[in-house]
Amino acid sequence: MFITFEGLDGSGKTTQVRRLVAALEAEGRRVVSLRNPGGTALGDRIRAILLDSRSESELGAITPTAELALMFADRAQSLAEIVKPALAEGAIVICDRYTDSSEAYQGGGRELGSERVLELHHAVCDGFQPDLTILLLPPLESSLRRARRRNERHIQTSGTDENRFEREGDEFYRRVYQAYRNIAQREPQRVVAITEDARIEAIASSVLTVVRERLQA
Ligand code: C5P
Ligand code: MG
Repeated sequence: MFITFEGLDGSGKTTQVRRLVAALEAEGRRVVSLRNPGGTALGDRIRAILLDSRSESELGAITPTAELALMFADRAQSLAEIVKPALAEGAIVICDRYTDSSEAYQGGGRELGSERVLELHHAVCDGFQPDLTILLLPPLESSLRRARRRNERHIQTSGTDENRFEREGDEFYRRVYQAYRNIAQREPQRVVAITEDARIEAIASSVLTVVRERLQA
């Protein structure tokens, strides 16, 4: 089973991925987890290019289309190197972000549109979709607050933004949020949206309930 986690920065994805991996492993299941972008040697390079807030001074402004293409280059590599082989061996694969992130951030945030992203998804990933997507979508304001607080701490300790996207304004994130809502409405079978602003524990247990149901189905 291929499970992805989606949501805005500061929505708690990474924490929830970690929790779910631990819970499933404790049940004796084989789990492989990764993140997009990243996870492969190529993906980690692409991640560094895309996220480093200093890359602009070295590479110039990355255009939205180049950003989108790099995201898909990363995804093609991690599908071939990690996701597909692990699924073939019967593992549960859990990925922190996947194509929905491109639809939300590049399609919505950067205004390239969903259609272009989905066309690339078909061309590059053969339209390969997760069996289940957990979308963490608490109210926009609370994600933004958390992400910005985290970024402030990052600036204090390392002198730079946590990543290039932290510089985007509220309008960008409002478009990302709306794009995620559209995806959830369009694909209610695949996408389970958790919209309440609950505690980590409570969300982790809802996530586990959903995953167990799907594993039994
Ligand atoms: O996965 P993580 O939250 O660490 O993502 C790092 C950054 O990459 C985030 O700020 C996210 O906004 C951005 N991103 C993006 N488009 C994607 C995937 C990630 O803009 N397709
Ligand atoms: Mg982040």
